[in-house]
Amino acid sequence: MARHTPIAPLRLFDTDHLIGEDDRAIRDAVRHFVDNKIKPEVGQWFEDGALPVRELAQQLGELGVLGMHLEGYGCAGTSATAYGLACMELEAGDSGIRSLVSVQGSLAMFAIWKHGSEEQKQQWLPRMAAGEAIGCFGLTEPDFGSNPAGMRTRARRDGDDWVLTGTKMWITNGSVADVAVVWAQTDDRIRGFVVPTDTPGFSAPEIKKKLSLRASVTSELVLDEVRLPASAMLPGAAGLSGPLSCLNEARYGIIFGSLGAARDCLETTISYAQEREIFDRSLASYQLTQAKLADMALELGKGMLLALHLGRLKDEARLHSNQVSLGKLNNVRESIAIARECRTILGAAGITLEYPVLRHANNLESVLTYEGTSEVHQLVIGQALTGEAAFR
Ligand SMILES: Cc1cc2nc3c(=O)[nH]c(=O)nc-3n(C[C@H](O)[C@H](O)[C@H](O)COP(=O)(O)OP(=O)(O)OC[C@H]3O[C@@H](n4cnc5c(N)ncnc54)[C@H](O)[C@@H]3O)c2cc1C
Repeated sequence: MARHTPIAPLRLFDTDHLIGEDDRAIRDAVRHFVDNKIKPEVGQWFEDGALPVRELAQQLGELGVLGMHLEGYGCAGTSATAYGLACMELEAGDSGIRSLVSVQGSLAMFAIWKHGSEEQKQQWLPRMAAGEAIGCFGLTEPDFGSNPAGMRTRARRDGDDWVLTGTKMWITNGSVADVAVVWAQTDDRIRGFVVPTDTPGFSAPEIKKKLSLRASVTSELVLDEVRLPASAMLPGAAGLSGPLSCLNEARYGIIFGSLGAARDCLETTISYAQEREIFDRSLASYQLTQAKLADMALELGKGMLLALHLGRLKDEARLHSNQVSLGKLNNVRESIAIARECRTILGAAGITLEYPVLRHANNLESVLTYEGTSEVHQLVIGQALTGEAAFR
């Protein structure tokens, strides 16, 4: 039978042709970091359910990916496309590493960068860009995930001070953070607060027993009469549009990031199938296997074309939040389908941490849920298409 040189899935689409030279160089530097510093270690971090966040944050700061698409205050000021590509490479390592970077840059830093006072920006952003200070973003509560408008955390005025009381849930980086951006109800709409985590009354117990995103720290935030000066409030954010503007940034990163996990699964699976002999032939030589691989490569490539299109729109400041929903819904949904299908090709070997496939699939369960569940994004798109809001 004729043999040809195999082509990697995204090379088949030649998507590199759509990426500028500078953005490709950034992408390659992040890929090199992930290949050398993350991939050799991450299986153990996942098994232990423990991530060396502080050490990693410093390395990621040196790499220049923390808040990389923001301008000024020690941030790299890259294109949005470069940021997306970096997310893709980080998530090819593990969704937990990309989550660390997304929460730091797109949620905590972006909230301060976009809505903060000059004093807040000067105080936090340069240290966060360098990975010297770690941030978290507290929006979700035990009873309010998809509907954050119902939040019960409250900030009341006491003289010039603010006093915060409430509980946040599922907060990435919570127990390792130096600073928490916390969203709370006030007499004047929902407001954001910059909370140094050593403030009395603040605690962040870690959530254990996770089966997904084990290489990521997830915590509860408990605010028990946390007293803050008037200057702790983010002056530029009033109402739910404040936190939603930050979520939009993080969701954008996931459009690319999720494909990184899928690509890693598919590449791993193609080489496994080439090596694995079944009924005296390589698993890759069977039509059933090839049909699966072809369908997965197609979805990966289509997702990448969508991501690059949305990246370009963002670089032109034309990206609408509805379009972010299109990308997040499609690319996470297809990535988790790819990860699960790849697992079938690996057979029993696919259930271990020797291969990244089930680790990625399990991680993508969280990615499917956070930053707006698939159902929430369907509702956003449904609203855009019909003009009817069907959220409640
Ligand atoms: C690992 C991890 C890390 C996270 N990190 C953070 C973080 O750093 N900061 C933060 O603030 N949050 C974080 N989250 C929380 C995340 O954003 C929420 O889990 C998410 O918004 C969903 O909320 P929920 O889990 O309460 O589910 P629910 O809102 O209770 O939803 C349950 C189900 O109902 C569906 N549903 C909701 N509304 C409707 C509707 N109108 N019609 C039909 N179905 C509906 C949902 O799609 C879902 O399937 C994290 C979550 C995880 C798992």
